[in-house]
Amino acid sequence: MPVTKSFIAGEWIGEQKAKVLHSAINGDSVAYTHDEPLDFKKAVEYGRKVGGKNLLAMDFQERALALKAMAIYLQEHRKKLYALSMHTGSSKSDNGIDIDGGFGTLFYYSSMGRRELPSGNVVHEGPVTPLGKSNHFAGTHILVPRGGVAVHINAFNFPVWGMLEKFAPTFLAGMPCIVKPATSTCYVTEMAVRLMQESGALPEGSLQLIIGSTGDLFDHLEEQDVVTFTGSAATARKLRNHPNIINRSIPFNAEADSLNCAVLAPDVKPEHEEFDVFVREIRHEMVAKAGQKCTAIRRILVPHEQVDAICDKLREQLSEITVGDPSVEGVRMGALASMDQLADVRANIEELLKTSELVIGGDGSFKPVGQGTEKGAFIEPHLLLCRNPENGCGAHDIEAFGPVATVIPYNTLDEAVELVAKGRGSLVTTITTRDPETIASLAPRLAAYHGRLHLLDAEAAKESTGHGSPLPMLKHGGPGRAGGGEELGGIRAVLHYLQRTAIQGSPTMLAAVTREYVRGAKVIESDIHPFRFHFEDLQVNQSLLTHRRTVTEADLVNFGCLSGDHFYMHFDEIAARNSQFGKRIAHGYFVLSAAAGMFVHPAEGPVLANYGLDTLRFIEPVAPGDTIRARLTCKRKIDQGRSSPDGHPQGVVVWDVQVTNQNYELVASYDILTLVAKKPE
Ligand code: NDP
Repeated sequence: MPVTKSFIAGEWIGEQKAKVLHSAINGDSVAYTHDEPLDFKKAVEYGRKVGGKNLLAMDFQERALALKAMAIYLQEHRKKLYALSMHTGSSKSDNGIDIDGGFGTLFYYSSMGRRELPSGNVVHEGPVTPLGKSNHFAGTHILVPRGGVAVHINAFNFPVWGMLEKFAPTFLAGMPCIVKPATSTCYVTEMAVRLMQESGALPEGSLQLIIGSTGDLFDHLEEQDVVTFTGSAATARKLRNHPNIINRSIPFNAEADSLNCAVLAPDVKPEHEEFDVFVREIRHEMVAKAGQKCTAIRRILVPHEQVDAICDKLREQLSEITVGDPSVEGVRMGALASMDQLADVRANIEELLKTSELVIGGDGSFKPVGQGTEKGAFIEPHLLLCRNPENGCGAHDIEAFGPVATVIPYNTLDEAVELVAKGRGSLVTTITTRDPETIASLAPRLAAYHGRLHLLDAEAAKESTGHGSPLPMLKHGGPGRAGGGEELGGIRAVLHYLQRTAIQGSPTMLAAVTREYVRGAKVIESDIHPFRFHFEDLQVNQSLLTHRRTVTEADLVNFGCLSGDHFYMHFDEIAARNSQFGKRIAHGYFVLSAAAGMFVHPAEGPVLANYGLDTLRFIEPVAPGDTIRARLTCKRKIDQGRSSPDGHPQGVVVWDVQVTNQNYELVASYDILTLVAKKPE
């Protein structure tokens, strides 16, 4: 039986056996933790020096590509993870959440990073704000990778996703990670780290793994480091209050217990499709990962008159769930992660039963299917009913981290809001109603207590990703009892690992720092048109000031006839005279087209395609008789490592365009997005 190893300072450590880890399915010994002590001072220094240096030798775009390479490698070797994960009690569909969900998060952060982050290691968070009257002094913000290590402490329930959902944004940001999985399922995380290592895409020092205790790790953390935590509120409190975390203002992000709700609105009746949708969602949330999800539904708020109907339906559906060894055909729900966890859940059910009654579960008839399962950590779904919540309801305080939920009746929606709030802040609540007005009044009131709201009606149910599934593009985390933290949410997660700094200076200096053209900065002009340069040769600030063009009435007429846009402002002299401009003006789209006509170089060249415009504003009107010209300046270059469909490497170039009139007033302002070919090899 293998010893699960730590991976510290480039070495796998762990020959001597310490604690034995048991299969949640049959109690067999699966692995050992190791006994060797770890040198945490060395680990953090190695992370900062070696990992940090190697990560910053790459840029955002290269790290995004590395995430994809890791995800592909992990995907190719997923069976190794499935095989181990079985021992944690996971069913096949649970593996879909933990293992494939983890890969999905890597893929998402890879493509999001390539889309939204620049080349280089400085994110420019504009806009630039002029701070002087003549634009010689301006201010803006930049975001740069923090110079420390990120310590991620994870819960037992998602040994793969739990690591990857934190690793992906950290890696993309350019910070090295030290990951500490929960001991009971750490052997699955160890395999995932081994595979990431084998993929060849992980730079040395960028990921270290701690098996077992964190020892004196927190004593060695410094101001540039970050800690994130997922687990119980008690541990979160303890770690958050570590003197070194407080004294050095080290950011600490927590995801803790959460007593999530599902609320059935009074307008939904048993004959409505929404009623079944609601029941299905609850059944799914109780059964997936055997209810060991921080997002699982714990409190089911139902109008008094629907309590019996809901309990009957859930009793019927939950009694059909086969619990046991997930490798046996037909098994829908696996085991809890460990016997300790089973004892915990049972104790919490006992507590809950002080204010509730059982609807299903706990009658002594339960037997998990499969050989040896009598030694496994199995428990059947337990649905409870708290008939008189006004006399106290344990479900507002006690989280049984298993397939356990409590039905709580309410009289009015105001009362439902009060009951939800008794959870003191949750990760997610599902609201089921058929009435948009009910949602419009309920959602904003509940939002204050939640990280996410899942609005589930029959229409959404066709495609809903589910109450309990945090998605990489949406925020995960909740206020109050849920830990007060925030994870995922697309680019937001990356920002946690970047330092935001305001910078002030001349536009030329701001452009040098941000590696983006800033209006007012010195431009580079030459006899060669900017469109004639390949991606590598083009420089940010390279610029072209075009010839002039006087707009005529014929332009308006021709453009109107060509486009079919005969809006009165361009064609009706009387109506236009009565407008705020007092005269006929040119189509905004004509100004854009005329500007393109002035700045485009017509010959076949490295500029391959124009794929859109950003930040377009028409600032001053252009009328017949006005004379316009354009300034085109290379604003930003992004090397995404992409090639055209026929295999030619190319990069993204964003051009700043300013169209001005004869009075030097800006009439149109926008960014053009283009693809530009790299030099032929
Ligand atoms: P714990 O808080 O005990 O453990 C969470 C993580 O913290 C584990 O990796 C654990 O390691 C580590 N840890 C524990 N004590 C320390 C310490 N003193 N210093 C450093 N690390 C420490 O929670 P569990 O995982 O045991 O789960 C218990 C409860 O947490 C669940 O019943 C549930 O209520 C809640 N939970 C919440 C989740 C969420 O996302 N909101 C997810 C999972 C659980 P080790 O395993 O080695 O002790």
